[in-house]
Amino acid sequence: MAKNTCAICGKEVNLVTGQKLADGNYICRKVCRKKLLKCFEVVSATLDDVKEHTAQIEKGTKIWQEVLLPLKKAKKNDGKLKCLGVGNPLLYVSTTTGLVALVETRYKFMVFGKSEHACVYRLADLVQYSYEEEVVKGSDGKNEKKEFCAIMFKDTPGMYGFRLEVANSKSYQDLAKYFDTLFGIQKTLGNSFKNAKRQLNAIKAAADAVKGAASGTLTEDQASATMGALDASIYGDRTEWIKKADAALAPYNK
Ligand SMILES: [Zn+2]
Repeated sequence: MAKNTCAICGKEVNLVTGQKLADGNYICRKVCRKKLLKCFEVVSATLDDVKEHTAQIEKGTKIWQEVLLPLKKAKKNDGKLKCLGVGNPLLYVSTTTGLVALVETRYKFMVFGKSEHACVYRLADLVQYSYEEEVVKGSDGKNEKKEFCAIMFKDTPGMYGFRLEVANSKSYQDLAKYFDTLFGIQKTLGNSFKNAKRQLNAIKAAADAVKGAASGTLTEDQASATMGALDASIYGDRTEWIKKADAALAPYNK
């Protein structure tokens, strides 16, 4: 059997004990693969992706244990975490810290207790939460529909996208509405004055910029104001979420 070495810990691996990465490197299944979340797509990852994800979990698990876990049991008005999804992993949202954690729980075989591994994100970086469904063969051989929320964070090293399983399309809609509300986004166009006004401001800023461009006077400031206005109409205003998250993460970003 062909032999290779784990590109992280150097242990010798073969086709069974090693996992091949997209760039041809191998990692060992016994130690180094286990440091990654199960939902991390290792087959399409390079060694650098694996290293970034490993560092992300090391840091994320620490933040989860020290900052977020205490809030899991908090009272509702005391910053209790909101839990989203079904199964494992689950997604937790903390509105007091502006952080989001994807938490995988592992139960130890024949031993009491469990361990948790987490990736922690800034809520402000959440740019996608769309619906997906997939038909899979269940254990009884029958087709079974699974429903997900496809989640993506911007400017995030490590695992920046994943699918969170949801119970059904209704719970997906509740989840999407929850995030829309946090970001002040009202997707149902036309039934809200606030929303209509925001759309108009964005369009006006864009029109001014186009005029400026035509007469050759578009400055960099105008251009970025335009992008900002358009962003706000699509993504909502996230200034407060950025502030909260950066304050919570400051001790960990040293
Ligand atoms: Zn290894």
